[in-house]
Amino acid sequence: MAIVTVINNDILISVEKATYDNVECIKLNFQKSNSKYKNLEVFEGNNMEQVFVDAKKLIGQNVTVTCWDPHNAPGMWSNNNWFKDIALLNNNTNDSHILDKGPCIKCGIYDHFVCFSEDSGQTWMHYACKDN
Ligand SMILES: [Zn+2]
Repeated sequence: MAIVTVINNDILISVEKATYDNVECIKLNFQKSNSKYKNLEVFEGNNMEQVFVDAKKLIGQNVTVTCWDPHNAPGMWSNNNWFKDIALLNNNTNDSHILDKGPCIKCGIYDHFVCFSEDSGQTWMHYACKDN
């Protein structure tokens, strides 16, 4: 299998159960990217509830998402919105971006997760704060 990055950096906004391609899936919804799916029966087996718990911990955060493709069929799964893994993006190299964004306009906290803007980047807030 070849590992393919299907989302470099986007914000996970919600996690749900859905049917995709006639199989029961976990569905991840992102701020900018297409929704991504993983076949629960094939990949999670006895672990179905835990995968939702784990994914929901990442809501509102910048994440990176990968998929697997067969070596002899590049894009076979990754081009069809399947995913295999989702991980918190390592923000350690992005310190300068905090300074660009300033504190969250809703709660005033100044951290790595101030990453949602409703005015094309003039002011920023936490995704979790946007409805407050
Ligand atoms: Zn906030």
